Amino acid sequence: MSYEGFETLAIHAGQEADAETGAVVVPIYQTSTYRQDGVGGLRGGHEYSRTANPTRTALEECLAALESGVRGLAFASGMAAEDTLLRTIAKPGDHLVIPTDAYGGTFRLVSKVFERWGLSWDAVDLSDTEAVRAAVRPTTVAIWAETPTNPLLNIADIAALAEVAHSSGALLVVDNTFASPYLQRPITLGADVVVHSTTKYLGGHSDVVGGALVVADADLGERLAFHQNSMGAVAGPFDAWLTLRGIKTLGVRMDRHNANAERVVNALVSHPEVASVLYPGLPEHPGHKVAADQMRGFGGMVSFRLRGGEEAALRVCAKTKVFTLAESLGGVESLIEHPGKMTHASAAGSPLEVPNDLVRLSVGIETADDLVNDLLQALEP
Ligand SMILES: *Cc1c(COP(=O)(O)O)cnc(C)c1O
Repeated sequence: MSYEGFETLAIHAGQEADAETGAVVVPIYQTSTYRQDGVGGLRGGHEYSRTANPTRTALEECLAALESGVRGLAFASGMAAEDTLLRTIAKPGDHLVIPTDAYGGTFRLVSKVFERWGLSWDAVDLSDTEAVRAAVRPTTVAIWAETPTNPLLNIADIAALAEVAHSSGALLVVDNTFASPYLQRPITLGADVVVHSTTKYLGGHSDVVGGALVVADADLGERLAFHQNSMGAVAGPFDAWLTLRGIKTLGVRMDRHNANAERVVNALVSHPEVASVLYPGLPEHPGHKVAADQMRGFGGMVSFRLRGGEEAALRVCAKTKVFTLAESLGGVESLIEHPGKMTHASAAGSPLEVPNDLVRLSVGIETADDLVNDLLQALEP
């Protein structure tokens, strides 16, 4: 039987019942090596778990199916996935276009690690397609996009960026962590590589760190698999299993994240202490139309700015009770943070600096009334 519905793929892709025992859930193959039936007599190609492990393979096949790619690869973290990707596609002398509000860890990797190895970069506002076109050089190997971005929730037009990248022989890489494949599938819009921090919505329960790459092209998939094995930053079997378990409920979780975020946004837009709300679902958001076209639902991330400046922003972060003050995002529990002093503190003074009156919410799947009431009491001056 063939199937292609997103929720069915999330629960079944790469996850046939165990041939020997019928176990419905893919086992945690907690093994480093595999018995050979005579020298070179590998069972199912299994030789050593850095190269392949059945629990990780199940996750990789599931991720490829969810992102409409031909191959998925799972890593120990989102940053490990990014490092492996960049070392696969780039060499000294090459150039990258990155977003002006790239994820802080991506900016650090590119500017503090890869620059030393001869990779140059330009940070460009990716919502301005013509500015991106102007920044692309003959040595540009990739346009690195995020949409929505962190923490400003800017939107880039994936299909338009794919055209710009491909017209000059570059790849379009999309970090799809914020949207998840349930809301947006970049490969169907022309992207070549999708990057995930599976730590966030895919895992979904704030209990595992992981990363992934999904590619549209089998040859690039082979080169990435070679580097994944050569560099070795793979997802362990238990981490892969936890991530697979989280993915099974991705669709229902994302529906609730969307609905709760809308409730929260509605409460914030009319609040006298709130100067502005950054959410692509708002009709006045500059990327609203593009987001509505390329996403199904606007996600669970909401940022807002306070009329009372930094002091007010810090006060709100200190006063919430249901929203936990913590970095990271995408879990079932709601989180609040001050990007200027927390996730984006290292961006101070760089092109990626964020306003100090900004608060970022990862809206979880608790009861919406409790979330709204918690924010209202925290906003009381
Ligand atoms: C968290 C995150 C990463 C990095 O992933 P880790 O799993 O923390 O290494 C990359 N991109 C985005 C958008 C993220 O939110």
